[in-house]
Amino acid sequence: MITILPDHIANQIAAGEVIQRPASAVKELLENAVDAGATAIQLIVNDAGKSLVQVVDNGRGMNEADARLCFGRHATSKISRIEDLFCIQTMGFRGEALASIAAVAQVELRTRTAENELGFYVEVENSQLIKTEPIAAPVGTSVAMKNLFFNVPARRNFLKSHAAEMRHIIDEFTRVALAFPSIAFSLHANHQQLFQLDSGTLKQRIVQLMGASYESRLVTVKEETDYLTIRGFVGKPDTARKTRGEQYFFVNNRFIKSSYLHHAIMNAFQGMLAPDHFPLYVLFIDLDPQQIDINVHPTKQEIKFEDEKIVYAFVQAAVKHALAQFSIMPTLDFDLDASIQQLSSIQQPFTEEKKSAATDSALFRSFTQKNQAHLIQPSGFRSYRSEWEAQEPESTPSNPLLNLAASEPVQNLIGLLNTYIVYPHREGLWLIDQQRAHERILYEQLQQSSAEKPVATQRSMFPVTLSVPVADTVLLSELCIPLSTLGFLLEPGATGEFTIQGTPSDLSPGQEKTIIEQLLEEYKHFNADANFTLREKLIRSMVKQRRLKAGTSLTEKEMQELVAQLLACQQPGQTPDGKPTYLSISKSYLDNFFGRE
Ligand code: ADP
Ligand code: MG
Repeated sequence: MITILPDHIANQIAAGEVIQRPASAVKELLENAVDAGATAIQLIVNDAGKSLVQVVDNGRGMNEADARLCFGRHATSKISRIEDLFCIQTMGFRGEALASIAAVAQVELRTRTAENELGFYVEVENSQLIKTEPIAAPVGTSVAMKNLFFNVPARRNFLKSHAAEMRHIIDEFTRVALAFPSIAFSLHANHQQLFQLDSGTLKQRIVQLMGASYESRLVTVKEETDYLTIRGFVGKPDTARKTRGEQYFFVNNRFIKSSYLHHAIMNAFQGMLAPDHFPLYVLFIDLDPQQIDINVHPTKQEIKFEDEKIVYAFVQAAVKHALAQFSIMPTLDFDLDASIQQLSSIQQPFTEEKKSAATDSALFRSFTQKNQAHLIQPSGFRSYRSEWEAQEPESTPSNPLLNLAASEPVQNLIGLLNTYIVYPHREGLWLIDQQRAHERILYEQLQQSSAEKPVATQRSMFPVTLSVPVADTVLLSELCIPLSTLGFLLEPGATGEFTIQGTPSDLSPGQEKTIIEQLLEEYKHFNADANFTLREKLIRSMVKQRRLKAGTSLTEKEMQELVAQLLACQQPGQTPDGKPTYLSISKSYLDNFFGRE
């Protein structure tokens, strides 16, 4: 027998898609406040939102008629024609949020527009208007959602612990707060203030939310093409953390989750991060709304791009470009251009003509031709740099110090504590960490080797035999071929035995055995890391094993060689795992510090 479900039950079922937990209401209510043009938004929660989620804004408010209507299904002021769906400028548009909240909680709405002297109060429960009356109220809107799922006990029991629900709430709050740094936000939980975010730049907002340690450790990302724009910040490699959670993508100011684009960024950071570490990023991609479909998922966190591969290549290139600029000149007062904050979400007009112009552009073509970019591991930075330089010669990051190195011999070096080298030059000075510099140099040298161009090998006159524990036999056999391009010739023999036929020619003979054993140990540390290729792991192990030992005293000539080689590196500024190799103190910084004109 077929029966028609009563309205309130149908509403409860529909609500399930939109409101799954207190944090879902937080998201919807915050977005409504943003859409209403608020400049200050307060979020108040009690018991992790289970007993109260309230959002108070100073936006345009609603008149009596709208206040009565807004809880209805499909009640929205944001679209009226189907075409509107393709040029949405607001966060909400489905007209489902308030209806869903009203179906599963007790809701109190207070609102007033600037035109009206009196505000209006509406109380709703089980999708029914319980009470309406005029009230005194400030301009703006307050929506209080009380006792979520009071009428759906099964769902209420399904909620997680306070700590878990609070985590979700803070996540949503953070996402909206990042997307709108010009709006002031606050968050109170159980009468305690957790956040008070002033209106400001994106950089200030990131620092307010993620901590002051990011103040000087954010790198600006900013690239524009006709097709799309990317702006935002990535954390310097040394700020990367083992736990995820500080990775944010926004497309046309809407937070999205994309493991695909995350991969693009991890790729851009390749060679700079310690194993299992994730960098912070807060990146905004703006493109013609026609190029995306935001409507594929009810909670709108997933997105489909017309051409994913272009977006991937673009994101990766933009982040690499930003990192390259930063790594070339890490200075004491590394100053970031905050002007990108002024950019609002860019809604570029995108005519057919413009589109074909964009798809004909060299940049676009290089991306599509290279649309496998994420599969091909570039062997070093050079390939990327030259590619970028070919596209945009004007914006090539130039390194004055590299030019300087060419025109000015590296001299007057001072060794410090058998650890650092002071390198004075025309523009100031560098304080170089000799061990880390050596790591960078070795890393790039090893990376440049290949099957056709292996590291020079010295054949052993009297090959020694190495025997490894059974457990390591498989591992070492696997490494024989990649090791050969890196200068080590190993021949597997009887179980567990390897004959060392050759070693890199710059290694002094006699220690082959210990060196390979140490290498194997280093390799095991990296081995669990799925992000690295076998060769990359091997190179990193070799760098660790062959770098200068701490406290090595260097002669003047050795220091000169080391500095010259560092200057010749593609990314002299950091070790393979992202630690700084030198501190740069510019002449202008010194002059400033000492108050010289
Ligand atoms: P949507 O945001 O998809 O339009 P909602 O259910 O979230 O749907 O809101 C319904 C309507 O109520 C909105 O279109 C808007 O007109 C009005 N509204 C909701 N919240 C606010 C607010 N904080 N200030 C002003 N108007 C609001
Ligand atoms: Mg909404």
